[in-house]
Amino acid sequence: MFLSWLRPLNALFPRGFVVTDAETLRAHSGDAWFASTLPQAVVFPRKAEDVAAVLRFANRRRIPVTARGAGRGYVGGCVPKKGGIVVSFAKMNRILDINVVDGVGVVQPGVITAEFQAQARRLRLLYPPDPASMKECSLGGNVATNAGGPRCLKYGVTRNYVLGLQVALADGTLVRVGGRTLKNKSGFDLVGIFVGSEGLLGLVTEITLRLIPAPPARAALAASFKNASIAAACVQHLLREGFLPSALELADRFTLEAARRHLGSEHIPKGDAHLLVEIDGQPGSVRSEIRMLAQLLKAGGALEIMTATKEADCERLWGLRREFSASLKATGLTKLNEDICVPRSRLVDLFDFTARLQKKYGIEIASFGHAGDGNIHVNLMADLTQPGMKARTDRALDELFRQIIAWNGAITGEHGIGLAKLPWWPQAASPELRKLHVQVKRALDPRHILNPGKFV
Ligand SMILES: Cc1cc2nc3c(=O)[nH]c(=O)nc-3n(C[C@H](O)[C@H](O)[C@H](O)COP(=O)(O)OP(=O)(O)OC[C@H]3O[C@@H](n4cnc5c(N)ncnc54)[C@H](O)[C@@H]3O)c2cc1C
Repeated sequence: MFLSWLRPLNALFPRGFVVTDAETLRAHSGDAWFASTLPQAVVFPRKAEDVAAVLRFANRRRIPVTARGAGRGYVGGCVPKKGGIVVSFAKMNRILDINVVDGVGVVQPGVITAEFQAQARRLRLLYPPDPASMKECSLGGNVATNAGGPRCLKYGVTRNYVLGLQVALADGTLVRVGGRTLKNKSGFDLVGIFVGSEGLLGLVTEITLRLIPAPPARAALAASFKNASIAAACVQHLLREGFLPSALELADRFTLEAARRHLGSEHIPKGDAHLLVEIDGQPGSVRSEIRMLAQLLKAGGALEIMTATKEADCERLWGLRREFSASLKATGLTKLNEDICVPRSRLVDLFDFTARLQKKYGIEIASFGHAGDGNIHVNLMADLTQPGMKARTDRALDELFRQIIAWNGAITGEHGIGLAKLPWWPQAASPELRKLHVQVKRALDPRHILNPGKFV
């Protein structure tokens, strides 16, 4: 396809910067979700000024620009829905600074999250946000989706660790928001506007992150229960008793059954619900706290309890939790992963509701996830080759999201709106809130070139 802008775009940059071969275009058309659209060109900037130059060029010509981190999103956020240019941050992947005394790290957006965490660890610092995809996803993508993970119950989500950003605005202006101090009340909280904005308001070209002292020890506990409602009640109880675990992960019957089939039943404790609790801190305190937690869960109805205070044993308990997703995939059914979030008081209601949904639509539902913050991944497990199944899952999803909204929950706690949640955006946000989004978008991207075709 001939595009009048490709030649002048190429002329702006050195060879290898703008790529248009079919394979590269295909590799930049989608993420871990189902949707994909081909861009017309992919650019690989090396520095912020390159990104600014691409945007200046595109803005003048009204060419769509979609940012891409590592392409491991779960909602089609980096899919270039209207074609145009994909800006890949794969080559802006340097850690620029880790300052132990300040507790600050400065990175380019393409740095892989787990690599930054490992570097910080070597200096006895912790970068807490831990999406399950952290070995593959980028910090820029984490900022743009405000990513979270198990540790967010205690430590908060990505937003809580972003001190400052350099952003390339739609017209190519480079601006710094926030700074590198823990407190900073100079002006509006513009960091908060860009974090979670899914590439719709500006392209992040540098990130200043907060690092905290790494706790020297951790301990973990895995408990099984007769059902998810009893386990969910235990979650409430241990929080009310003053414990704030660094992770509190709950899995339901279908998930455990799938794991039994996939890994062998001898590896999975009996019962229809599984709770993983992790605490961190000083060695003496985690050892005594984990004992107290075990007693508390036993009194709350736990069938079996395994505790771990050594690193290798903790990893073994986590190993099982990490296998849940693979076990569900091994069922051969299509896994529609919905990362809904409910107020914690609704946890038991949520498990009861999904059980009813399962019966009503004849679709298996596997729920597991971050019980401590109410962010449960509800996975509809569907055989989409069955006649009528697609329509049934659509109706079930619709009913699920309507109920979540009625409980003052969120239709997405981690992954973002992207394309996957687009149909439910009008239900999730009031007309006034949607109008405000449009006004912010117009102010920052008046020509609507950034990630068009998404929720604003
Ligand atoms: C197996 C699996 C497990 C997952 N587990 C979790 C989890 O536990 N928690 C969680 O939060 N998410 C999870 N996710 C979702 C996903 O990994 C996160 O959303 C992650 O932040 C995406 O990062 P990425 O670099 O892959 O971004 P991409 O997919 O490349 O992009 C995501 C969005 O960010 C925008 N973007 C990317 N870089 C920039 C930039 N520099 N400037 C502006 N916008 C940009 C894109 O346009 C897009 O809208 C999981 C995904 C998978 C596949």
